[in-house]
Amino acid sequence: MVVEQQGSASTAVPQHMNTAVLGDNIITASLDKVVNWSRSRSMWPMTFGLACCAIEMMAAGAARHDLDRLGVLFRASPRQADVIILAGTVTYKMLPVIQTVYEQMPEPKYVIAMGACASSGGIFDTYSVVQGIDTALPVDVYIPGCPPRPEGLLYALIQLQEKIMREKNSFGAAIGVGEVVQG
Ligand code: SF4
Repeated sequence: MVVEQQGSASTAVPQHMNTAVLGDNIITASLDKVVNWSRSRSMWPMTFGLACCAIEMMAAGAARHDLDRLGVLFRASPRQADVIILAGTVTYKMLPVIQTVYEQMPEPKYVIAMGACASSGGIFDTYSVVQGIDTALPVDVYIPGCPPRPEGLLYALIQLQEKIMREKNSFGAAIGVGEVVQG
C-alpha cells in the first residue's frame, strides 16, 4: 500500500500498519462483478405503455408489488433509462417512435417484450401490427401471456438481473476496450 502525504513524496506503508488501518474492512471482487451488480440492482425502465399490458406494468409499480424495492424506478426520459419495457401491441405507426426512443437511451440498454402482442403480434395478425418487436429491437427477455400478471414482469426483471450478472467486460466495452461478452 502507498499513501500520499502532504508536502512529501509517496511512502510505502509497512504490512503491520495496513492491518491496523484497514482491519477487517477489505472486500475483493472482480470489476465485472461490481459493475454488473450495480447495474442490475438499479435498472430504470423507460415509461412506455403501448396497450392493455401497460396496465399490468403500472400495477407492478404500484404498492402491492412495489418495483421500487428492487431499484426499478420508472423514468420519463430515455436519457435516464436502462431498460425499455414494451408493454402492449406494437403497430407499424408506432414503431419509428419506439426505435427513436430506444436509440436515445444510453448504453448499456436492455429490452423486455411484455405480453403476446409485443413478443409475436399476439391475436392481431394484421397489416398494421408488428409481428414481434424482435424484428426491430434486440429483445433480452420475453414475457408470455395476454396479459401477463405483474408477477410475470417481476420475474422477467429478475431474469434480466441474472443475465446482466453473467456479462463479461461490460465496463471495458463502455470505455471502448473490447466487447461485452454475454453470459
Ligand atoms: S398481449 Fe393481450 S393484454 Fe397485452 S397488449 Fe396484447 S391484447 Fe392487450
